[in-house]
Amino acid sequence: MSSTFIHLAAISRNKAESFVEVNALNPSSWIADKYPVDGSIDNFSDVLLRLESTNHCNFECTFCPHPTMSREKGFMSEDIVKTLLEDAASLGFRSLDLRNFGEPLIDRRLASFGAYARNLGFTKIYIHTNGHLLNAARLDEWAESGITDVN
Ligand code: SF4
Repeated sequence: MSSTFIHLAAISRNKAESFVEVNALNPSSWIADKYPVDGSIDNFSDVLLRLESTNHCNFECTFCPHPTMSREKGFMSEDIVKTLLEDAASLGFRSLDLRNFGEPLIDRRLASFGAYARNLGFTKIYIHTNGHLLNAARLDEWAESGITDVN
C-alpha cells in the first residue's frame, strides 16, 4: 500500500457546494499527503482514499485535536459520497478508508457505503474506530456489505 492518502473532508448537508473544493474529477484539488514530487498520481490503484462521511466524534481524547476542531461538524450527503466513490473508482482507486477525522461509527450508513464501494470495484475497505459503538451485529452487517478491515 502506498503511503499516499487523499483526504476528502466532511461536507455538511448545508454546505454541499463545498463539493467543488474536493471535486473527485480533479485530484490536484484534493488534500494529499506525500504527493509525488511532480504533483501527479497516474496510478491510483495503490493509493488509499480516505473519505470522511462524518467528522463527529463521541470521545474527547486528551491527545487529540478533534475536541478543539473549529471545522463545522456534519455528515456528507449520500449523493456526494456516492459521486465521490464513483469518480474515485473510475480513476482507478481500489482502497478506501471510511474515516478521516472523527468517529465513523456515528454514521449509520457505513455498511451501505461499503457495499456501494465494493460494487464499484474497491477491494480493500477499511474502518478505523474507537470501538465504543461497535457490536457483533454491526460487524456482521459490515462483513456482509464487503467491508474488509476493521481496526
Ligand atoms: S476517538 Fe479518535 S477522533 Fe475522537 S477524540 Fe479520540 S482520537 Fe480524536
